[in-house]
Amino acid sequence: MAEISEIICVTCPQGCLLRVKHAGSEVIEVHNSGCKRGQEYAISELGDPRRMVASTVRVNGGLHPLVPVYTRSAFPKPLIPRLAQALRQVEVSAPVKIDQVLLADALGTGIDVVASRDMPAR
Ligand code: SF4
Repeated sequence: MAEISEIICVTCPQGCLLRVKHAGSEVIEVHNSGCKRGQEYAISELGDPRRMVASTVRVNGGLHPLVPVYTRSAFPKPLIPRLAQALRQVEVSAPVKIDQVLLADALGTGIDVVASRDMPAR
């Protein structure tokens, strides 16, 4: 049975409030989108919601004890709590280079978690 959900498109700063007619995860119609990407966003959000994830990882012997990291691409939303848990277990040694892979193939998704800055040794 079809239902209507309201979803905010976060693809661009406009933040359109989409009105989506759908049957479960199948999108039937999208209204109120400022451009065609709203439709793509609604399909992805209902079928396979993903988010970019930013966090930190412990560094031994680094100038600072943590280095900021991010997922190289948007990560499946239901797995984000498990990713946060996995990142708490990661410990690397300084120096760390920007873009260095600190957690490869996170949770078997094929998505790497990489450093977003250099972290020199102390
Ligand atoms: S529908 Fe288009 S204009 Fe509206 S927030 Fe999404 S990307 Fe931006």
